[in-house]
Parts: sequence; structure tokens; C-alpha cells
Amino acid sequence: MTRSMSTYSNNYYTGTMRPAPQRRPLTGEVRADVCIIGGGLAGLSTARELLARGRSVVLLEAARVAWGASGRNGGFVLQGWSEGLSAIERRCGKQTAASLFKLSLEGVDIVRQTIAEHELPGCAPTTGKLSVVRYEDSENLQRTRDRMARDFGFEMEYLDTAAIRSRLNTERYFQGLRDNHGFHFHPLNYCLGLAELVEIQGGTIHEQSPMLRVEHKTAGHRVSTAHGAVTCADVVYCCGGYGGPEFGPLRRAFLPIATYVVLTERLGERLRDIVRTPDAVGDNRRASDYYRIVEGDRLLWGGHITTRNLQDEQRLGQLLTRDILNVYPQLHGLKIAKAWSGLMGYARHKMPHIGPLGRGQWACTSFGGHGMNTAPVGARVVAEAICGETDRYRLFDAYGLEWNGGPFGPAAAQTVYAGLKLMDRFQEARSHSNN
Ligand SMILES: Cc1cc2nc3c(=O)[nH]c(=O)nc-3n(C[C@H](O)[C@H](O)[C@H](O)COP(=O)(O)OP(=O)(O)OC[C@H]3O[C@@H](n4cnc5c(N)ncnc54)[C@H](O)[C@@H]3O)c2cc1C
Repeated sequence: MTRSMSTYSNNYYTGTMRPAPQRRPLTGEVRADVCIIGGGLAGLSTARELLARGRSVVLLEAARVAWGASGRNGGFVLQGWSEGLSAIERRCGKQTAASLFKLSLEGVDIVRQTIAEHELPGCAPTTGKLSVVRYEDSENLQRTRDRMARDFGFEMEYLDTAAIRSRLNTERYFQGLRDNHGFHFHPLNYCLGLAELVEIQGGTIHEQSPMLRVEHKTAGHRVSTAHGAVTCADVVYCCGGYGGPEFGPLRRAFLPIATYVVLTERLGERLRDIVRTPDAVGDNRRASDYYRIVEGDRLLWGGHITTRNLQDEQRLGQLLTRDILNVYPQLHGLKIAKAWSGLMGYARHKMPHIGPLGRGQWACTSFGGHGMNTAPVGARVVAEAICGETDRYRLFDAYGLEWNGGPFGPAAAQTVYAGLKLMDRFQEARSHSNN
């Protein structure tokens, strides 16, 4: 893993972040009930849930709080999981799928309520998400709306072509579904707020303290860093896509997948005339575009996944500018202010690893591209299990540590992704030729 240990990457969120105190690295020997490894949304949320249940907590973060995916993502907080609901139903059955869907909604509510209850500054939550299709699909979309209401009790608004195009001035889109439960926000400021709450509740966070190894003793574990160690009864692994070989079998069960975001320069009236909604927007392709307006007249636009983490800002800018102009050619000449990448941890089954890994060892990780609701609720489920309150982690029984394909995993994933992109293009081209 390459990681600048002391600074955040240069992106929209770090340019608009709240002051973030440097937390001192771990030195010497300490004790806690639970040691959490990884200070992203999963680790911070797990810390809060455990502290609320009276456990003492030490959190070790290799770089800075929310330095990884949690502080640099699209900022969409929506129902669902990285895996689609139909696939979940096929694998787990209708009842478990419905329970998992409910859990995903609980995750959205945890974030919304935490912001409101603690008046977390700089999070700027804005309700609404439009899911659009790039080909004629009205019947299917209405069926989806009806099924979501019937099977999952989740209401969505169907928007026909005229309604979609009155909000989004492009001929690329045909119909859409509006989710008025989900929202979008500033994920880094949210995590920085969580870190403060963890400390107020009595938890300890050490930054620049990568876990090097975990030794298992008869009465607990010893988690070592370069200059210290934590002795604890339970360990929770929350490394996302950034974990290395120090995570042992868990590391062999996910693939780090890169994805990309850009922020445009100010677009003024031009943008307001084109994107006439404060909602976040995403299309339904396997390789989707997703975007939202920030600061009144800038587009924050994400897309693409690769198994190799492309870092060249200029190249990323060009890649995503092409996507933007494909949807909104009216924005020709736009300039990119910032471009950045991040890593997501993906299991082959596309569901997270949530649950026990052995005596006193727990996983709360691999949330893929859908972690802003699922990490907070995954954290709650793991905390409940550690404290003997519930066994909701059993909802994930069908999703264990499947091998990630080792050295062949990245190539296989990239091939699957290329195939899916081709299918998207084919479907879209067919729809356009029928119109
Ligand atoms: C560009 C991008 C856009 C995305 N957009 C969205 C979105 O709009 N909505 C959504 O729901 N999801 C989105 N996601 C996914 C979401 O961001 C992740 O699922 C979520 O942030 C995962 O949180 P995490 O805590 O598991 O991982 P991370 O936030 O990556 O945190 C893991 C942490 O573990 C630390 N770590 C690793 N190894 C060690 C070690 N040995 N010792 C100590 N610490 C260690 C890392 O430094 C890192 O800080 C996006 C992801 C990316 C990259």
C-alpha cells in the first residue's frame, strides 16, 4: 500500500474540511476491551457503537481519520448494498433479503440522525436521489417501483421522460425513479465529527499507527504497531480496500478496486440551466456515472472502476470530462479543478464481511461502492454481537470469506467489468436505434 502517512489527499472534501487535530501515534503498552483497526466510517462507527454499550476502545488508523474511501467518496447515503437486491434474494431467500434491505435503511437513518442529534457541522445533508436510465425502460422501472413498495415497503416516485428531462437537460436519459429517503452530504466532515464524538465518549484514536500484526493469546489478543501494542479481548478489522497482508485470510477475501471523482471549476448559470435539481443523480448502468451539485455551481462527478489505481490527475480529468460531455455536451470547455481516486474493498459476492472471524476477532469491512449506509449499520451489528445483544450478523451467513482469486483476481475482475460495460453500451445503442 502506498500512503502518505501524515497528510490527506488533495480533493474537494479536504479543501472544505473542518479543522482536524492530528492524533498522536500509539506508543507503549495499553489495554482496552476492544481494539479497532482502521479509522474510516466502519471503524469510527464501530467505536461509537461499542462506547455507547460501555466498552473501552482503542482505534488504530494507519494514516489519518477518514483518509481512505470514507473521506473521498461521492457522498451518497442510500438504501441498499453493493450487491443488487435480486441477487441477494436468489442467494439468501426473500425473508433474509427483506431483513437485509431493512438493515440498509437503518444505516441511512443512523447517519441522518447522528448529524441531527449532534448538530455535526459541515455535513450539508441534502435529501433526494434520482436514478435514471439511458434507454427506454418505462415498464421495467414502474415494475421496480411497484416491487420495492410491495416486497420491501419502500416508496419511490416514477418520473417519465418529460419529468426527467425537465430536471436534467439531456437527451441521454429516458426515465427515472426518485428516492426521497436517501441523501447526499460531506462524508469527510461527517467522519471528523464522529471522531470527536468517539473521544468525547472516552475512546482513544491513534493516527499514523498501522497495525503490523495481531497475536492471539489465551486471554485475548495483542495488536502491535511500530512503537506500541494494545492488549484487548476483541479485535475488529475495518481496513476497507486499504488493508495489506497483515490482515491475513481477510486480505485474501477482498479485492481493492479503484474508482474516480472529479470536481469542476465553477460553471455558473450554465450548470443551473442543465441540472435543475438539488438531488444527487446516478444512472443504472453496471459502470455508472454519479454526480451532484456542490457549492451552488460545481459538479462533483464520479465513475469508472479499475483494478489498477490510476493516479495521474490530468488523465483522470480527461477521462471523466469525456463522461460529463457525453451526457451534457452543453458544458463543452468545462475545466476540472480537482481529480482524485479511492480504493474500495470488494468481496467476490459483493456483500460486506460482517461477523466473527474466530474467537474475539471480527470483520466489519468490504463495503464496496455502497458503504455510507452499510458501514454504520454493519458497525452496529458487530457491536451488538460483541456485547452479546443480538446475532443479527447471522443475516450475512451466506457471505463468507470467499477467495479473491489471488494473483488472477484483478485480471478476472477487470475482464468482468469490461464485459458489463459492453453490455451497457449494447443495451443503450439498441434503445437509441429503436427511437
Ligand atoms: C471514489 C469513491 C466514491 C464512492 N462513493 C460512494 C458513495 O457515494 N456512496 C456510498 O455509499 N459509498 C461510496 N463509496 C464507498 C465507500 O466510500 C466505502 O464503502 C466506505 O467508505 C468504506 O469505509 P471503510 O471504513 O470500510 O474503509 P475506508 O474508509 O477505506 O477506511 C479504511 C481505513 O483503514 C486504514 N488501514 C488500512 N490498513 C491498516 C492497518 N494495517 N492499520 C491501521 N489502519 C489501517 C486505512 O488507512 C483507512 O483509513 C465510494 C468509494 C470511493 C473510493
